[in-house]
Amino acid sequence: MRAVTLFAPANLSCVEAEVPKIKDSNEVLIKVKACGVCGSDIPRVMIKGAHKMPIIIGHEFSGEIVETGESVSSFKVLDQVTAMPLIPCGKCEFCQIGKYNLCDDYLYYGSRIPGAMAQYIVVKESNLLKLPKNVDYESAAMTDPVSVALHAIGKANINAGQSAIVFGLGAIGLIAIQWLKILGCSEVIAIDIFQEKLDLAEKLGVDLTINAKNNNVIEAIMDYTHNKGADIVIELAGNKITQLQAIQSASKMGRVIYCGISYDDLLLPSKEVNKILRGELFVIGSWNSSIAPLPVNEWKTSLDFMDKGKIKVKPLISHRVKLEDCKEVFEMMYYKKEIFNKVLFIPDL
Ligand SMILES: [Zn+2]
Ligand SMILES: [Zn+2]
Repeated sequence: MRAVTLFAPANLSCVEAEVPKIKDSNEVLIKVKACGVCGSDIPRVMIKGAHKMPIIIGHEFSGEIVETGESVSSFKVLDQVTAMPLIPCGKCEFCQIGKYNLCDDYLYYGSRIPGAMAQYIVVKESNLLKLPKNVDYESAAMTDPVSVALHAIGKANINAGQSAIVFGLGAIGLIAIQWLKILGCSEVIAIDIFQEKLDLAEKLGVDLTINAKNNNVIEAIMDYTHNKGADIVIELAGNKITQLQAIQSASKMGRVIYCGISYDDLLLPSKEVNKILRGELFVIGSWNSSIAPLPVNEWKTSLDFMDKGKIKVKPLISHRVKLEDCKEVFEMMYYKKEIFNKVLFIPDL
């Protein structure tokens, strides 16, 4: 089969590999139909490398089951599925209370074990979810960012009528604005530096967009919120400027949720520290997503909302690409040669 393989940082190519074999009886073999590029894949491929190399990358995917292990009971050949990419250890303190996303010793498809940017992948039954009727392979490959956005929004304890801001309109940001609306925020503000992404956010229902390239973001927010700031702020850009603006734009008792992976040091000036304590802000981290059943199975909920057409992911797809073009595609994204949202590798292309 063809497989996008990372040999070392910035050394990526599509190579001929053996179709993986089912080793444990609780595994299935999937023919991959779509595999998205995650925001985390770009630095992984271009700078940092993966935990283990060479490795087939890719963890946001969907496909059709073509073979099942002996003990697999809930899935069968021809089932259309997606999969949660994290395999928890099941033993650590966090696994014991069902916080699998915080597991101390996990495996991960596409960074620690072989991923899905290939024609086939072997996956454990416990990670699988069946696709509902109205969720096609391309949409299903985005269940991961939909769930990550839901997990972050879950930290906001939203009350209907509250206001919210999203910094950074990558795929997760464009989905987060939809969840905020669904969960009852009356005013949702979206901030980015690309007008194309702001235009898309407007189509997806935000009340105000601010282009940070040519506007004073904080002034615009304070204007719009009558100097109060927003009740909820979701930071997804992972950049020291927006990380600071997230605090500056929150209201008293506001909740600031950091979800964008950071590659920059943030200097927190005393003015903002004092704002956190005087305004009794909640500064919260959010990491990954979960298929644990409580409070809700975020993956199942995400698929349900996509099935009902309430969360729209199709407009986020900017590129459908071939496995063979992986090197050019990652360079395009890393060097920002084109404006992109979700880039999907389609093995059948
Ligand atoms: Zn991801
Ligand atoms: Zn664990």
